[in-house]
Amino acid sequence: MSNRLVERFCAMVRIDSESGNEARFIESTKGQLETELGATCAIDAHGNLIAKVPAKNAEGGEPIFFAAHGDTVKPGVGIEPIVEDGVIRSKGETILGADDKAGLAAIVEAVVTAERRPAVEIVVTRGEEIGLVGARNLDLSLLDAKRGVIVDGEALNEVIIGGPTHASVDVEILGRAAHAAEPEEGISAIRIAAEAITRFKEGKLDAETVANVGTIQGGMIRNGIPARVTIEAECRSLDHEKCLRQAEAMKTAFEEAAAAMGAKANVRIRIEYEASRTPEDSAIVQLACRAIEAAGLEPETQVILGGTDSLILSGRGLETAVLGTGGQGAHSVDERVSVADLEKVSEILRHLIEITAAG
Ligand SMILES: [Zn+2]
Repeated sequence: MSNRLVERFCAMVRIDSESGNEARFIESTKGQLETELGATCAIDAHGNLIAKVPAKNAEGGEPIFFAAHGDTVKPGVGIEPIVEDGVIRSKGETILGADDKAGLAAIVEAVVTAERRPAVEIVVTRGEEIGLVGARNLDLSLLDAKRGVIVDGEALNEVIIGGPTHASVDVEILGRAAHAAEPEEGISAIRIAAEAITRFKEGKLDAETVANVGTIQGGMIRNGIPARVTIEAECRSLDHEKCLRQAEAMKTAFEEAAAAMGAKANVRIRIEYEASRTPEDSAIVQLACRAIEAAGLEPETQVILGGTDSLILSGRGLETAVLGTGGQGAHSVDERVSVADLEKVSEILRHLIEITAAG
């Protein structure tokens, strides 16, 4: 059985699926779920897969969904998984793709091995790594389940029940170009940027709020006063209002620093998603905790500052929680997952299915 799960996982990561190029992986998963589980599959207009697996040995029990994202970050082409000392890793030039194929492989194995199950829906989203776009565009009319889990976390005993509001702050500073020998004729957009960034707090602002300036680009030539700088910044907070206030503070800092030097800053704030929290006593959190216990671990509920498909789906009215994949070192060529952890995830999910089937 363990070999089958490892093989399942390795077969998945061997199919390239960097964000934007997931179609072949989604197609292949669809074929596999149809053949192996008798699933009825649909691919929505955005390219997300929704596979409906009929109930087995269960009368009642509400339908439940399991979601994982089908895309990976780069470098994710030509992944060659190797199993060594009970750990699966890539040969070294690529990521492994445990994020999130460990989640998907464990889901499929759990559905296959569960002795009884309610109607189960397996959702494979696209473009999670490039802004949760698959989940945003997921055609919910194709989904019967109202609750489910996203298997895309880390630790196996953690149930992630909430996440932050996330604001992107895009800045364009327009100064005035001039020859470096005649600085009085110009206004340096770079100096304005430097001044503005010192006017707001960055990093960890409090236990639930962070802010970051991620990119800065500007200037054309060494001997010219730079006329234009663009900046990509962001902030997040588990408290929605705090996130908005921080984003506004960053906007004001750029505008005021520019105005003080007779220049202009165009600042755009975009709310990527809003903070949400699934109640501890909701059915999905309770089921997830019971499943983790059944697998011999101590469940812990958590809120995180990262974004997952869960935030989008929860914002769209579904009851969701995130479970771990056991993967480590995601988004790096050191990414790995142990065979034991992969098996444990699958066991947790199998318990979740069987407990749900019991009603
Ligand atoms: Zn992921």
